Amino acid sequence: QGAGVTVLGLGAMGSALATTLLDAGHAVTVWNRTSARAVDLSARGAQAASSIGAAVAANPLIVACLLDHASVHETLDPVIAGMRGSTLVNLTTTTPNEARELATWAAGHGVDHLDGAIMATPPMIGTPEASILYSGSRDVFDASRPVLDRWATSTYDGADAGLASLVDLAMLSGMYSMFAGFLHGAAMAGSVGISATEFAARATPFLSAMTDGFEHFAGVIDGGDYAVPGQQSLDFSDLSHIVRASEEQGVRPTTIAAVQELISEQIADGHGAEGFARIYESLRAERTAK
Ligand code: NDP
Repeated sequence: QGAGVTVLGLGAMGSALATTLLDAGHAVTVWNRTSARAVDLSARGAQAASSIGAAVAANPLIVACLLDHASVHETLDPVIAGMRGSTLVNLTTTTPNEARELATWAAGHGVDHLDGAIMATPPMIGTPEASILYSGSRDVFDASRPVLDRWATSTYDGADAGLASLVDLAMLSGMYSMFAGFLHGAAMAGSVGISATEFAARATPFLSAMTDGFEHFAGVIDGGDYAVPGQQSLDFSDLSHIVRASEEQGVRPTTIAAVQELISEQIADGHGAEGFARIYESLRAERTAK
């Protein structure tokens, strides 16, 4: 019998988290704003709390998996004063600053807090493919491992509560930009009648092989010299041919044009002889903050 856990939020993800704990033999108390969503979990052995107050009082470890930052406050504001000494693990997706705000707010009420960012879909929870990033209290992370490790590979990113969210969203930014690039390519191929399915079959091995570039760019950035030999210069390929080809085909070049804009900025700043990784300088925080 594992430790008792309260799970707040029984959407697709919260239900998967609660089910995995039940299957592993934990005593689980569940609560959901719309109580009907607790019926299936009750049938599997969960205790359905009659109110949010009863839910947070049932166990010292409370896991929240709600819609967003606002819904966490809406749910817990009325009961936080009675939660002194409890532990809150918030797996709701928030921005880094929202996670930091929750950490400060929880600490102000004597509640230990750990923020988590789930890098998995609900069916992946409890399988080796699932990963969850955590930040905030190291003590909570260490003490909660017997529960956290039921769901996924658990990684602790640091004491700043915003770190898990930041790394998660940074990875998702990379993913969505890559997906958008693929869809732009599919639209270009589609303009001459190549189906998206055929384009995907041809693009997948190519784009997969291109991920080797991450390590190369990282080496250039961390090495601090964007002019290291052996790179294609920004002057040589400013991507204008791709933008032009897209326009000629009647396909919106928005995604690739955004990359071209960053290159143009660096060329205008006198860095045309340097490599592609140079656009990192157009993106990084210090420059944006100017
Ligand atoms: P769902 O839309 O399936 O569920 C949302 C949950 O939030 C429901 O339990 C809903 O309750 C509750 N909720 C919404 N608004 C409020 C509110 N104002 N007060 C109280 N409860 C509220 O979402 P998921 O379960 O998929 O996602 C939950 C969290 O997990 C999100 O932050 C999401 O970003 C994150 N996540 C989800 C992933 C996924 O693949 N699904 C992947 C990674 C993270 P009700 O039933 O009453 O509407």
